[in-house]
Amino acid sequence: MTLLFTHPDASRHRTPPGHPEQVARVAAVETALAPLGLTRRESPLAEESLLRLCHPQAYIDRIKSAEPASGTAQIDADTWMSPGSWDAALRAVGGACAAVDAVLSGHPNAFVLARPPGHHAETATPMGFCLFGTVAIAAKHALKSVAKVAVVDFDVHHGNGTQDLLWNENNVLFITSQQMPLWPGTGDASEKGAHDQIMNLPLPPGSGGTQMRAAYAPALARLRAFAPDLLIISAGFDAHEADPLAQLNWVEEDYTWLTRQLCDLCPRVVSVLEGGYDLDALGASAAAHVAVLQEQS
Ligand SMILES: [Zn+2]
Repeated sequence: MTLLFTHPDASRHRTPPGHPEQVARVAAVETALAPLGLTRRESPLAEESLLRLCHPQAYIDRIKSAEPASGTAQIDADTWMSPGSWDAALRAVGGACAAVDAVLSGHPNAFVLARPPGHHAETATPMGFCLFGTVAIAAKHALKSVAKVAVVDFDVHHGNGTQDLLWNENNVLFITSQQMPLWPGTGDASEKGAHDQIMNLPLPPGSGGTQMRAAYAPALARLRAFAPDLLIISAGFDAHEADPLAQLNWVEEDYTWLTRQLCDLCPRVVSVLEGGYDLDALGASAAAHVAVLQEQS
């Protein structure tokens, strides 16, 4: 039975009207996942010690103090905070780490429904709607218990934050696919990490499921050889053809295919929501992804 880690605080993080990373994303995913009958768990607030696995205390304090008492406050070109954003971000990290603990204690897999997303947050820089590197923190947290963790990021944007936070981490294989060129501009295949443990899979604008399958073939072989104890997925659904922020042409079946390949390579999976900005495509793609987790568990 797939676990669903979430908390109502995910909807307390508000962005200005018209911002693509909106509160309505949570309800879109909740509604789409409802028929799957997942086992719900409440995402706990992360202790700050978890944040310190990836971020310096001065950065943590800066984010905490940036939360406005009312309205919204801009902390980066694309990144905003509102009252409740701090708790929402702590629930994202806490949910991801609790999901890791649950899966490492015997549950086959878990999906974490949280906002804000995390994969663009660098060591001391909020970016691209993200405050803390949720998935990188979860990977470092898992390394307290297991030897090898793989992270796969199929969000359409490069996981520059995860790459930054895991650049020197020899025990994590990080595989990330992204449209190139596209914001944030990084993610070239030549970016390989300090120990050749990062694999970037750039995809050209306009490409779809066929090109995705070809690009992932060597990555899946690498993943198989690495034999991770745990797989963490940065599950963004903005490579979908309907997404307004990018130009890839993935459809639900592509998410089904890729999720199945990943689950076949590692039976212990924690998947964490990242992007996805067309509400209908987000819901349908998340449901296609989580349905595979559910059939595996
Ligand atoms: Zn994205």
